[in-house]
Amino acid sequence: MTRYDALVIGENSFPFHAFDEMGQHIATALGSDVDATLTTERETLADLSSYDCVVDYLTDSTLTDAERDGLFSFVRNGGGYLGLHCAADLTSMSDGSGGIEPREEPFPAFRELLGGHFIGHPEQSAFGVEIVDDEHPITDGVGNFDVYDEPYRLTCDERELRVLARMNHPELESYPVVWVREYGSGRVCYVSLGHTVESLENDTVQQLLKRAVRWISAA
Ligand SMILES: [Zn+2]
Repeated sequence: MTRYDALVIGENSFPFHAFDEMGQHIATALGSDVDATLTTERETLADLSSYDCVVDYLTDSTLTDAERDGLFSFVRNGGGYLGLHCAADLTSMSDGSGGIEPREEPFPAFRELLGGHFIGHPEQSAFGVEIVDDEHPITDGVGNFDVYDEPYRLTCDERELRVLARMNHPELESYPVVWVREYGSGRVCYVSLGHTVESLENDTVQQLLKRAVRWISAA
């Protein structure tokens, strides 16, 4: 069985998305064929040569030039990138005491990589996730499912990406939940789920994440 080396990066800057709690749940969800290295050390991004892919759970996407160059050249040259949930929050920075310092413009390099970004969310709730494209290795044979999570409203240019799953929420429009795209020679997958432990323990979510790692790592 092929094994994958994944760097899973997050932070403890905010009481929500605390990586000390969520990191282990993310690692478990990625499955046993992934060797997940959990880190909050952003300088690791400057040299990703020993990894197949990066799993991004950062809320505040502030990086130094070296970290940014390391991450984006890694993906451009064929490395995998899986953005999970808050990875698409490109307008929140840490105020240093657990709160958010908003920024006007989404972090441009991440916006270009992801092809979309987070604009807000209502309360956590149960909602449906509808597979809208099952002709992709990540969603092939996967059925629609329900999940309890934070429903992310996102904006993206759908000509720039391939949406695989959408939200079926009683009060929201059908925002994309899973999408894929290419970035240079690398592969990118974004999954808007992953705020709650329940969601990361959901069998179908785990199946999607496992397949996402395989697909992004195979470029
Ligand atoms: Zn969240």
